[in-house]
Amino acid sequence: MVEWKGIVGTAYTADEFDSYAHALRWSGWRPAFIVVHNTAVPTLAQRPNGFTKQHILNLEGFYRDQQHWKAGPHLFIDDRQIWVFTPLTMSGVHSPSYNKTALGFEMLGDYDRDEFNSGRGLRVQRNAVAAVATMSAVLGLDPDTMKVHKEDPLTTHACPGRTVVKNKFIEKVKELLAERHGGEHLDPVSS
Ligand SMILES: [Zn+2]
Repeated sequence: MVEWKGIVGTAYTADEFDSYAHALRWSGWRPAFIVVHNTAVPTLAQRPNGFTKQHILNLEGFYRDQQHWKAGPHLFIDDRQIWVFTPLTMSGVHSPSYNKTALGFEMLGDYDRDEFNSGRGLRVQRNAVAAVATMSAVLGLDPDTMKVHKEDPLTTHACPGRTVVKNKFIEKVKELLAERHGGEHLDPVSS
């Protein structure tokens, strides 16, 4: 039996997640970049109100008891909230080549078919951009190092769907980082 690492199982708004992540202590494993995924199943329509706590517990059962993995992805991000799944300070299981070095963030939706740039998909995207910006700031990561799952040569499926355009996503992460921290750089007098 592999030992299951456990889950955090708490949902945060993007702002709450930023505070949560800044308070984490990195005493052991430290991720070097972020890998973005989409769930494909469930689709947005299959989770009309995003993930509930029960959905998250069901996912824990799936990874632990059916897959027999020792962990899962780090975040499940929907249009309402950011669920912390595998603790961000431990390595997860989400992308064969990248598990040991990267955080894995799952976005709710199938972005071959679900709309990513309007409606609920856009709200998922905004939360995901916020989560990537937060973890880039916390870990001192260059947003350009971010990957999408389908870049993993060992993966078997095209994840996330084709409407998730990596370079556009990274641009939005950079814009948000500039917006959050712009004031500090515009005022050289402040200490
Ligand atoms: Zn994936």
